[in-house]
Amino acid sequence: MRKIYRKIAFCLMLALLPLFSCAPKDTYQTKYIFAMDTDVSIHISATSDVSELISECESLIYSIENKLSKTRTGSDVYRLNKGERVSCDAVTLAVLETAKKVYLLSGGAFDPTVSGLSDMWDECESANALPSAERLDGELSRVGFERVHIENGEVWLDTGTKIDLGGVGKGYAETAVAALIKENAQAYGVRGYMLDFGGMVGVFGEKAGGDDYRVGLRDPDDSGKNLGRVELSEGYVSVSGDYERYVTVDGEKYHHIIDPKTGYPANSSVRSVAVICDDGATADALSTAFFVMGYERSMEFYEAGRFEAVFFMSNGEIKTTDGAKYIK
Ligand code: ADP
Ligand code: MG
Repeated sequence: MRKIYRKIAFCLMLALLPLFSCAPKDTYQTKYIFAMDTDVSIHISATSDVSELISECESLIYSIENKLSKTRTGSDVYRLNKGERVSCDAVTLAVLETAKKVYLLSGGAFDPTVSGLSDMWDECESANALPSAERLDGELSRVGFERVHIENGEVWLDTGTKIDLGGVGKGYAETAVAALIKENAQAYGVRGYMLDFGGMVGVFGEKAGGDDYRVGLRDPDDSGKNLGRVELSEGYVSVSGDYERYVTVDGEKYHHIIDPKTGYPANSSVRSVAVICDDGATADALSTAFFVMGYERSMEFYEAGRFEAVFFMSNGEIKTTDGAKYIK
């Protein structure tokens, strides 16, 4: 799934750029990096040179990645997946806490223990064959966040269970970067920022003419086109869609958001869902959860002010919550 992600993230970035460019270009200082398996961009508007602050943001992102990466030897997640009992870093514990909150809220639709199922789908691509019933049942029997144990900063998993924090980590990192920029806002004369972690966007501050920021929502069928945009002055927008990452088996595409109940890619009549929220990790996890849950089930949790959402449905309908500032 990873190999095509760079390309897709780049397309997303392109989709977002024309909208971001409404801000006066010269006031934004920008850096592009590749981290957390995606293209990341940091744009800060400030009265003084923020290159040092941007470097600190970069280091912070890498340090979070070093705790949460599934593949990086020695990361908390890597060690947990090896069956170790780990005294986890505060970052990992905070991400697990949000994951658990959204797991409970979503009735298990968001569940990082789908990791073994994601690996299985990667193997299906290599073998060009769908999973056998035995393999699928075996993987499903190891899914469930109740198999993750957290006690006084120590974490361990039931035998065979693996976790993947890819559905929440980028949102957490973005919120941490935002906090770092805000802490330093006075020293650098920061007026605003725009952060984009592969389509997970965070914005804050002053824009030319006092306008809100506009975040483009891409057409699920056309990476070069936006179907609309959401406007916000501060907060996070996370998009989960069936076009972002996928494997191909026997000519068919199987996308990367797994329904923990079936083990198959979620099939809820949603092509993509954008969640707007004042916490990045929550926005990230909720968009993944809502993609699995579909529109009706997701709306059972809707409480004005806590989050807003825009759903692009398979039949072409666009459904929005009352408070979402969606503009076609
Ligand atoms: P992306 O990371 O591609 O922007 P998402 O935020 O929707 O998209 O997260 C998808 C990632 O989350 C997958 O690549 C996988 O690592 C993980 N994942 C897949 N299905 C689930 C699920 N049901 N619950 C939690 N995490 C999931
Ligand atoms: Mg997510």
